[in-house]
Amino acid sequence: MTRLPVFAALLLSACALPATPPALPPVTGASAPATTGTQAPASQAIRDRPATILVSIDGFRPDYLHHGDTPHLDAIAAAGVSGSMYPSFPSITFPNHYTLVTGLRPDRNGIVSNTMEDPAKPGALFQLSDTKVTHDPDWWNEAEPLWVTAERAGILSGTMFWPGSDLPIRGMRPHDWILYDADYTSAQRVRTVLDWLRRPAGERPGFVTLYFDTVDKASHHDGFYAPQKTAAIRDVDAQIGVLRAGLAQIGRPANLVIVSDHGMAPVPIDQRIDPASVAPPATTRTLGWGPLVAVYPRDGVDPRTLDASVGRHAHDQCWRRESLPARFHYGRNPRVAPVICMADTGWSFADRPAGYVRGDHGFDPRDPAMRALFLAQGPAFRSGRRLAPFDNVDVAPLLRDLIGLPPGQGLDGTDQTFRAVLRPERLDR
Ligand code: AMP
Ligand code: ZN
Ligand code: ZN
Repeated sequence: MTRLPVFAALLLSACALPATPPALPPVTGASAPATTGTQAPASQAIRDRPATILVSIDGFRPDYLHHGDTPHLDAIAAAGVSGSMYPSFPSITFPNHYTLVTGLRPDRNGIVSNTMEDPAKPGALFQLSDTKVTHDPDWWNEAEPLWVTAERAGILSGTMFWPGSDLPIRGMRPHDWILYDADYTSAQRVRTVLDWLRRPAGERPGFVTLYFDTVDKASHHDGFYAPQKTAAIRDVDAQIGVLRAGLAQIGRPANLVIVSDHGMAPVPIDQRIDPASVAPPATTRTLGWGPLVAVYPRDGVDPRTLDASVGRHAHDQCWRRESLPARFHYGRNPRVAPVICMADTGWSFADRPAGYVRGDHGFDPRDPAMRALFLAQGPAFRSGRRLAPFDNVDVAPLLRDLIGLPPGQGLDGTDQTFRAVLRPERLDR
């Protein structure tokens, strides 16, 4: 794809403007700390560009489309571009969300798991529920998310949730961001995004993220086949409809990119693996459960005892981090545990049975059940196109093109994947 000739001009004009425009009013309806952070200047050319809106529907499988539950998403697929993506290893939430906005696989972006340790930070345990730890920028500073790159280029960004978006990374925050709060309804999230986009030129974001967690949650907590999951799919779809209607009413063109971070697989009640079968408690300790378990030697135990864990077992496989399959692109980051065990799809490391057919993810990224959603529609995209499955590292390079950022250096993905579905002549308008 040819690069946009406007970048240099955009960046130069952005730099020429004052660095501190007036403070913005708080976000309407926000129940948490609202706007804060850096406020970058914007040139006329940037202000006129269509907004780029990145939507994530956590745990949404592409084959949930076209079953009568998703009229709005189906309409986007028909009017724009559709396809599916291979998630990066491990096929869980934080690593893949950070990949989507950095273009780097988890091994290189530093968010190697939802739960992790770092030899450089003894005693610290990164886990989603502990914001005192996860809000330490050290965990995130190995990569630069797009909202930071955009802000540096004078393009305002607004993050209606996204892992990493509610803390400063490399010293920068999005222009608008909200502290993660799972109780924030999907409708509130959409309303907040529309409120941002309704602002006058120069105050509204050019890059927006929007995150929905209800489909993933219902799959885990109610079950893969639960009516609550279908209800969540329908509700998110309806909110996408509200978003589209709101955008049409605002009358500002936008490029919409809708993704998921990974798929979801049913885990039958009896398909349970005793974690002690791969990690004897006397000599090892584990992090995580479900499809993936990280194994460490206990303090004072010879690390070679881990050899007993490694290998193919009846319903799982364990690898030393140096010998993981090359296609996982994983194991060089010191945050990766010495041994990683992955259950076969549909199996789970668990102490006790779930009592229902749980939905779960974290299985092999190449398994069709782990496939992630990709949809895109807007002035930059051709209509009614279907893409062959691709790696999710390609999303960030595409977003850079849409936002108007220069190509990233040394990224793991490429925008070439989208060459046939983009209207290059519309990218800078
Ligand atoms: P997973 O365990 O991989 O299914 O992770 C999904 C969960 O991650 C969601 O249900 C949320 O509870 C949590 N989550 C998503 N985004 C954030 C965030 N920005 N901050 C904290 N937790 C989050
Ligand atoms: Zn997820
Ligand atoms: Zn999940």
